Order: sequence, then C-alpha cells, then structure tokens
Amino acid sequence: MPAELLDGKAIARELRDEVAAGTARLVARGVRPGLAVVLVGDDPASAVYVKSKGKACEEAGMHSVTIRLPADTSQARLDAEVDALNADPAIHGILVQMPLPKQIAADSVIRRIKPEKDVDGFHPVNVGKMLIGDTDGFVPCTPAGIQVMLQRTGVKTAGKECVIVGRSNIVGKPMVALMLQNTPQANCTVTVCHSATTDMAAHTRRADILIAAAGKPHLIKRDMVKPGAVVIDVGISRVEDPSSASGYRLVGDVAFDEVREVASLITPVPGGVGPMTIAMLLKNTLRAAERTVA
Ligand code: NAP
Repeated sequence: MPAELLDGKAIARELRDEVAAGTARLVARGVRPGLAVVLVGDDPASAVYVKSKGKACEEAGMHSVTIRLPADTSQARLDAEVDALNADPAIHGILVQMPLPKQIAADSVIRRIKPEKDVDGFHPVNVGKMLIGDTDGFVPCTPAGIQVMLQRTGVKTAGKECVIVGRSNIVGKPMVALMLQNTPQANCTVTVCHSATTDMAAHTRRADILIAAAGKPHLIKRDMVKPGAVVIDVGISRVEDPSSASGYRLVGDVAFDEVREVASLITPVPGGVGPMTIAMLLKNTLRAAERTVA
C-alpha cells in the first residue's frame, strides 16, 4: 500500500490559527507582535520567501516590516539596521534573509541580532541552548516544524532510528540536536550523513524516520528506504520542466513516486516541510513578544 501523505499544509494551518489566536490575546493586553525581515539584494527566490513571510505575519494579526537593501549594501549599513531593530520596542523578531551578498559576513550579522529577538534560532546562544536541551531559547524554524509535524501526526520517536541526510547549520545539525534530546517527542538514535559518508544507503536503510536535507533532487531512492519508514523531505530544488508554464517545477530530495511505495508516511514537495517553516517563524515571533509582557 502506498504511504500516506504527511500533510504539512494542514498542520501549518492549524498552527497559524493558534498563533493568530495567541496574537489576538496579546494585542488585547496592548502588545502587537512585530517581525522585521531584512532582505539584502535581489535574489528572486529570497524575495518570494520574504514576501510570503510578511503576508503570513499580517494574516496572523502581527506587525510586519520588510527592509529591502541594495545588493552592494556594506556590512556597516546592515549592522546599523540590525542595531536599530534590536532597539525598536515594536519589533520582537528579526530575520535577516540568507544568503547574503559576498561583502557581508553572515556569521557576524547573526551574532549581532539580540538572542531574544533571534526568531530564526541561529544565534550561538540559541544554538547552545537547543543543544543542551534548554527550551528557553529559539529553535530554527525548519527542524522545529518537522518535530511538531511528527508529534501532531502521532509518529512515535522514542527509541527509533532517525537518519538525517545533511549537516547544515540551518537544517541538518539542529535536526540532530532536536531528535537526540531525552524528551518524548525525540529520544531517537540519530545518524547523520553528509557528502563524505561512504555507503549512505547502508545508513538510510536502517531509518525508522528518514529526514533528507541535502538539496539534491531525488537523491533518496526506493532501495535506500526501509519498508514502513516515515520519510521527511526537506529539499527544494528547481528542475527544468518544459511541460509547466514556468518552465520548471519544484522537487525534493526524495524520489517521491517510488519511495511512496515503501514508506508508511511521506511529506510531499511542495506542501510538506515548507509551510511548517513559516508557521514556526510566526510561533517564535509570538513567543518573543509574549516574553516582553510576562
Ligand atoms: P546546504 O547548506 O547546502 O547543506 C546540504 C547538506 O547536504 C550538506 O551538509 C551536504 O554535505 C549534504 N549533502 C549534499 N549532497 C549530498 C549527498 N550527495 N549525499 C549526502 N549528503 C549530501 O543546504 P540546506 O540549507 O541545509 O538545505 C537543504 C535543502 O533543504 C535545500 O534544498 C533547501 O532549499 C531546502 N530547505 C528547505 C526548507 C523548507 O522550509 N522546506 C528550509 C531550509 C532548506 P557537506 O556538509 O559535506 O557539504
């Protein structure tokens, strides 16, 4: 029997409704959660992400600010923008859209954002808290969204083999940290694969929960997946498709049609992990704002 679809869109909708209700409660107490998104340059994919983040914020009843800076913006100018947002009481969450142009040191920008406004969860203080299991910090939105998706679908994680493909700072590594914690929604035995892994299939075939975040279209084939596994596809790549009006389509890291035949649950691309990422960003922003009145 083909795998059931893990409908990220529906769970994200649920979360966004919860965030909108929480926002309304906070507004009634005199605080409107505010998110500032900074976009440097004119990368078209980044512009699309930034637009959808702003729209989602407004739909949840939040205050949304988008700061667009030219591609040749200096480090000093961006630093000054971050400083101003750090000091602005109407802004509770700050997100600087990656990737940044070459002249800007992304690490330094991430460190400049106040940890309590770092709703992306990339500041070393928040990364450290996540690693030691301190739930007081912010967790990066994509891995946090995956964990919530598993939890709300009733996927049992404790004692399971979780294999993660990819070790980036925004997806793979935080995913490892989350699934490793001694909590009911994690407690997995975790394996991480990357570009230097030899015989990756030997690892992925052990996975009860397989999370693919390599950014390589259709890297995960049917024979790399254990029958009955839960498969989470984080990858989003554009591939040429002359049959579509745009000339391309979005695909994941998983060869969906064939893997669906062996998995028990699988996320589609698009419509799986992506919507959860935005929902978690809103959730983090609401939390950041709630803390200012607690
Ligand atoms: P990234 O920074 O490029 O990292 C990719 C990781 O995959 C690296 O650790 C790399 O290994 C590993 N990798 C690459 N090719 C591999 C292979 N053939 N076998 C095993 N491992 C391999 O990418 P990212 O930012 O983590 O994003 C990954 C994908 O998720 C992208 O398609 C991105 O667009 C997507 N994404 C989606 C969302 C969402 O909301 N749905 C959010 C974030 C990212 P090395 O470390 O050895 O180079």
